[in-house]
Amino acid sequence: MEREIDLQKVSDGRLYSLQDLVKVGCDDCSGCSACCRGMGSSITLDPYDIYQLTQYTGKAFAQLLDESVELNVADGIILPNLKMAGEQEACVYLNAQGRCSIHTHRPGICRLFPLGRLYENGSFQYFIQIHECTKESRTKVKVKKWLDIPSAARYERFVTDWHYFLKGIQNKAMEEAMQPADEKRAALLKQVNLFILQQFYVLPYETDRDFYEQFEGRLAQAKEAAAVYINE
Ligand code: SF4
Ligand code: SF4
Repeated sequence: MEREIDLQKVSDGRLYSLQDLVKVGCDDCSGCSACCRGMGSSITLDPYDIYQLTQYTGKAFAQLLDESVELNVADGIILPNLKMAGEQEACVYLNAQGRCSIHTHRPGICRLFPLGRLYENGSFQYFIQIHECTKESRTKVKVKKWLDIPSAARYERFVTDWHYFLKGIQNKAMEEAMQPADEKRAALLKQVNLFILQQFYVLPYETDRDFYEQFEGRLAQAKEAAAVYINE
């Protein structure tokens, strides 16, 4: 979910790219799992996260919804996020040793933390949220290494495409939220929401095919469906 932030207050004032060094190294989080608890609904899951989760766990999206994922509305769009559970409001994938049980397939937001993304001019760069990670002495690591994700450039392309696709719908939904209620428009937004959920999350991805190719095909169809809502 996008938040309004004052970069000067939350970051070191710099923006980073994949090849830049950034002070995030935290000794493999040894003894700490602070950012896997109490995160509310903030760990939003994108289609690649769900692709990874369904592939790793062997569970369909519907089953994940029963166990580890929930749905919430972010600026008019229904999106899945990781569920926090129990007294400590811990992520369902945090194991008894305080480690991530799906580490190799963890969601993009978990890979990023404590980095954030700043979207501008059809692209994005990274910034460090200097008050978020509780480890005091941190070492410099390349952003690409920190993300630890295959085909990082393609992944960035996907993140950008996904962000701006949602943003177009969210801008329209937020604009309409300021106006008198209109049942027809609300029904149209609901249809778009159901289409997005079905198209990008419920419909299984073929595990023997490239994810990004499948995503791009689905995105082209979704843009047509969303245009009915955005342009009408
Ligand atoms: S707060 Fe920092 S050290 Fe602790 S788990 Fe998160 S990233 Fe690791
Ligand atoms: S998926 Fe893993 S890294 Fe992400 S919040 Fe859950 S336990 Fe932590």
